[in-house]
Amino acid sequence: MIFDTHAHYDDEAFDEDREELLASLREHGIEAVVNVGASIAGTKRTLELTRRWPFFYGAVGVHPNETAELDEEKLEWLKQVSAEPKVVAIGEIGLDYYWDDPERDVQKKWFDRQLELAREVGLPVVIHSRDAAKDTLDMMKAAKAGEIGGVIHCFSYGVEMAREYLNMGFFIGIGGVLTFKNARKLKEVAAYAPIERIVLETDCPYLAPVPYRGKRNSSLNLPYVVEELAQIKGLTPEEIVEITNRNARRLYRLGDQ
Ligand SMILES: [Zn+2]
Repeated sequence: MIFDTHAHYDDEAFDEDREELLASLREHGIEAVVNVGASIAGTKRTLELTRRWPFFYGAVGVHPNETAELDEEKLEWLKQVSAEPKVVAIGEIGLDYYWDDPERDVQKKWFDRQLELAREVGLPVVIHSRDAAKDTLDMMKAAKAGEIGGVIHCFSYGVEMAREYLNMGFFIGIGGVLTFKNARKLKEVAAYAPIERIVLETDCPYLAPVPYRGKRNSSLNLPYVVEELAQIKGLTPEEIVEITNRNARRLYRLGDQ
């Protein structure tokens, strides 16, 4: 069954039908979901989801564009909740120069501190990096992130960057963008990266695959990504589902189902 390694079901886009939708996932072939915190409030909601749904796990952390809210006290709180049994990662953390807010020094400071936190508590990291390839890589190398481990979520760079992160032992997160007509670069990365190092993700409610591009995304759309990846890799969809599920369990250090 499919493992969705990156979702935001706490988003208000799901307020109307969250219970119904989440109750239906397992019967549609979704085995597990990691809900990813993007702010302190989002992390709180993520923890609630992991308590409510047996097949949900959580990542706790603050997205680069939300780091203006961070202080020592909140960082300490993140450390505390990272000890909850269903918390499997620190994330999403990183750098985002597309939105470029707050200023880069603030983003960098809290990226570094959250990398440090992950090392301290012994959890992998979920990295968000947009239009910030060089700084992200430099900071991760300086922090010896290879020893921490994790995933570059919604991978948006080229083969050269993919090589760097693969060498560091990281996984590459791939979602709906793979099905877009203009996704040449990501298709190249998907062809280049060993299948053992690719994990599936939705980033829902964002980034729905074709034929639902622009609509609200959910884990139910992952078969479209599986189909595309199967073609690129010359494998069957069943093989893609099985291998990426195993990868996700390795990434988040969960036992086999
Ligand atoms: Zn995300």
